[in-house]
Amino acid sequence: MTRIYTVYKGELGGKLVYIGTTIQKPADRFRWHKANGKDLKFTVLKQFESADDMLDEEFRLINLHKPKMNKIKHRKQNLNVKLTAADLDRRKGSGEWCQRCLRRRVNAGYSFCLRCN
Ligand SMILES: [Zn+2]
Repeated sequence: MTRIYTVYKGELGGKLVYIGTTIQKPADRFRWHKANGKDLKFTVLKQFESADDMLDEEFRLINLHKPKMNKIKHRKQNLNVKLTAADLDRRKGSGEWCQRCLRRRVNAGYSFCLRCN
């Protein structure tokens, strides 16, 4: 089965307040947000066949709209930065970092980054 990479938006009172990405079924992801207190009107914007295309579009839209609920812009991460074993060790068990590569941040609710998933 081909994986689908989705970019979606969340609106509040007709105003765009959030841009998100998911590799889950969008309806499942939207339900997860609502269960976690993000009760927005969600709409799928675009779907891609690669994580890179999806993340490029997310980055473009976040910069274009600067939605108020997007806090971290984790597209242009510097993956060349030298990390010591201790740095990586500190990321183990953290909800913020991919638990497989320990190099990329994860979307809330995920354990692995979109490349390791
Ligand atoms: Zn990873």
